[in-house]
Amino acid sequence: FHAKTMDLPYCRYHEALNNFYLRRIALVEGLEYAIRTSALRTYLQPQLNIQTGQLVGAEVLLRWQDPDFGWVSPAEFIPLAEERGLICRITQYVIRNVLQQLQIWREEGLEMCGRVGINISIRDLEQPQFVEELLEQVATSGCHPKQLELEITETAFMRDPEVALATLTKLHEAGFSLAIDDFGIGHSVLNYLKQIQADVLKIDISFTRELLTSAADKAIIQTIIATANIFGMKTLAEGVESAEQAQELRRLGCDYAQGYWYGEPQPIADFEANWLRDGRAAGCETSNS
Ligand code: C2E
Ligand code: MG
Ligand code: MG
Ligand code: MG
Repeated sequence: FHAKTMDLPYCRYHEALNNFYLRRIALVEGLEYAIRTSALRTYLQPQLNIQTGQLVGAEVLLRWQDPDFGWVSPAEFIPLAEERGLICRITQYVIRNVLQQLQIWREEGLEMCGRVGINISIRDLEQPQFVEELLEQVATSGCHPKQLELEITETAFMRDPEVALATLTKLHEAGFSLAIDDFGIGHSVLNYLKQIQADVLKIDISFTRELLTSAADKAIIQTIIATANIFGMKTLAEGVESAEQAQELRRLGCDYAQGYWYGEPQPIADFEANWLRDGRAAGCETSNS
């Protein structure tokens, strides 16, 4: 630091800004190292049919414990990874892990009923070889595309709708399930809904949170469900934390739910014990389609 800078009245601001950038630089370094050493953990959060209580799938959510920073939220490191060109490596990491796990379960005779949801970035969709490579990886692992559900946020989609649409269409044709994540808070994707072959609209957590207290949020959820019905899509409510919310969503005709009320994101071994061996859910929706 220049002594001069330190004298300025806004030096505290400089310091904060500086800490912000120092943290980011250190985090990027730590993240690269974590990818290289397979230190990122893939957690699974169950998804249930809200009407029947059956397990319909699970979403992969990354967890990262950095030696210096402790637990770092994906809400912080994923945007950073996107900015710094690390996101495609992270997606590949997740895909490899998931396919490997599905292979292990199959060999053990354990069925992962339903799909595994993987969050993907617009950067992935921009890779010209993304679909072909994914198909090859899936085939090599003895899995089927319909076992995977690829989630793209509405916001990410709208960053590059034409490219996203082209790649999503290919993915859909290849048999992958598609979900639009955090639906309802992004720049409106409504105009594209008729073209995106999405299977699921994931109702953003902010609407679920206020469902019981805000008539407006309830109205938005009803609108999303009605819209999904028109387009032949399913709805999944994110962030269900209470029986009352679940009950209301059931009443509104929501199809699926995910949230702490049903199960937190958990290490794969726990998910396996709780959901695949224990059969905590009322059976599985086995059709996988
Ligand atoms: P998302 O895909 O919308 O994931 C749902 C988030 O809601 C997760 O946050 C999950 O832990 C949290 N959640 C689930 N149930 C509840 C609940 O009942 N109450 C509350 N308050 N929260 C709940 P998380 O794990 O912190 O992840 C944040 C975001 O980071 C994810 O949002 C996703 O966009 C991104 N992310 C996580 N893992 C990956 C990944 O492997 N790849 C990419 N590209 N993004 C990822
Ligand atoms: Mg998601
Ligand atoms: Mg979401
Ligand atoms: Mg979200």
